[in-house]
Amino acid sequence: MDSVGVAAAAPDAGPGPAWQGKCPWGAPSTTSISCSLADVMSEQLAKELQLEEENAAFPEVVAAAEGPFITGENIDTSSDLMLAQMLQMEFDREYDAQLRREEKKINGDSKVSISFENYRKVHPYDSDSSEDEVDWQDTRHDPYRADKPTTTPRRGFIGKGKDITTKHDEVVCGRKNTARMENFAPEFQVGDGIGMDLKLSNQVFNALKQHAYSEERRSARLHEKKEHSTAEKAVDPKTRLLLYKMVNSGMLETITGCISTGKESVVFHAYGGNSATEDKVIPPECAIKVFKTTLNEFKNRDKYIKDDYRFKDRFSKLNPRKIIRMWAEKEMHNLTRMQNAGIPCPQVVILKKHVLVMSFIGQDQVPAPKLKDVTLSSEDMKKAYYQILSMMQQLYRECNLVHADLSEYNMLWHDGKVWLIDVSQSVEPTHPHGLEFLFRDCRNVSQFFQKGGVAEALNERELFNAVSGLNITADNEVDFQAEIEALEKMNEDHVQNHGKKQSTFSSDGDPPIYDE
Ligand code: ADP
Ligand code: MN
Repeated sequence: MDSVGVAAAAPDAGPGPAWQGKCPWGAPSTTSISCSLADVMSEQLAKELQLEEENAAFPEVVAAAEGPFITGENIDTSSDLMLAQMLQMEFDREYDAQLRREEKKINGDSKVSISFENYRKVHPYDSDSSEDEVDWQDTRHDPYRADKPTTTPRRGFIGKGKDITTKHDEVVCGRKNTARMENFAPEFQVGDGIGMDLKLSNQVFNALKQHAYSEERRSARLHEKKEHSTAEKAVDPKTRLLLYKMVNSGMLETITGCISTGKESVVFHAYGGNSATEDKVIPPECAIKVFKTTLNEFKNRDKYIKDDYRFKDRFSKLNPRKIIRMWAEKEMHNLTRMQNAGIPCPQVVILKKHVLVMSFIGQDQVPAPKLKDVTLSSEDMKKAYYQILSMMQQLYRECNLVHADLSEYNMLWHDGKVWLIDVSQSVEPTHPHGLEFLFRDCRNVSQFFQKGGVAEALNERELFNAVSGLNITADNEVDFQAEIEALEKMNEDHVQNHGKKQSTFSSDGDPPIYDE
């Protein structure tokens, strides 16, 4: 579409600063685009604006480009988008630097200072300006949502109460400010202004101070342990950006390293930070479970989620990437149910796409040992057994869940008790294979404790009945399994005929209880 060159209002509010033309990389066309009505209708322009918006969505790439995940050596240039974002950020920072120089020059000796804050491309507070897709988590209290950057109101003074600084103090104060620049981190370039009789306005000083601090934090992160980079390389660029957002938003203090690399997930340890929101208390230590986005790993797990009625409707409509997020979402919901029932398990902190942050079971970066790795006294072993028996019952009755991957690998020994983890595959008992999963869980638990010398440990069939409350009488494994499958089949038929699922199983002819 040909555009007739009648300049209309720029799409961005307000004109850009006057120095735009002097930018070494040419006038940045993104700040103020003059366009005609024809342009407004143009698809090309729409695309450009879209791109601009997408670029603006990743201000943290600055940190990402320098942080431990993406350093000079291990920089991942395989993603064009990532590369483009990083270049854009470099450009934006250049632009901001120029802006600051200009701001400084203009404000130099003047009594009234002008702030270019609003023209900045990389805003220190703007930790997450957009999400490309909607998260499943309730986003009403999204701690990532950045507040609007605040600007100092135009008034004749700065500060409050006794800290008030009026224009009369301007000279003294300006000199002080200049001197205080010495306190900035040594790497922070303040120019040779310190040696001169330069009077820096409070506003400019504060802007510089803020910038110096964020630079300092950035640089601290950069020099943090680099040895974890191998595990971190297993995480794709999008995930790295997500993790950086968590650190940059202050929700996490640092991500110290990888605890576990499994087939379907990578788990990191992190120290909790101070969340941007007051209503969320971040545990001092966190575990970050990153569900792997390599799709083939998940194919064999389809049966857990495909038939879970809670996810059934969505399953058919979703693309594979979203199905992976569903695993993370399932883990979050299941953990929450368990938490509510008082079962010892990690507490959910936040879910972001396929990344689940929860409380860390362990201490000082050392995860609690798995039950399979810990040697317990016979007394503790017995205690653990009874605890697990009661947790399995609680899980089934109060949480309406079957763990479905319960074994000594997914139970941690911490604080003298057993903690359940890894519940992304957990299902409700009425799942078409729910009882089979439960039976397998019972087999694992009963074998572990019988081998571990707990004489009181029920065998797998007894345990199954004790947990489910069903009364399957078969005295051998094959018949028992057949009865389980018959029950599942009955339930499925019921769903087919009534379009409603039974909320509980009943083996002794009682009328089934239905969901409301
Ligand atoms: P996977 O599907 O890879 O088995 P898990 O949830 O079992 O995922 O986590 C893998 C390992 O990471 C666990 O065996 C445990 O050692 C560690 N881990 C996971 N979550 C936590 C947590 N909240 N606290 C401490 N360690 C954890
Ligand atoms: Mn596991």
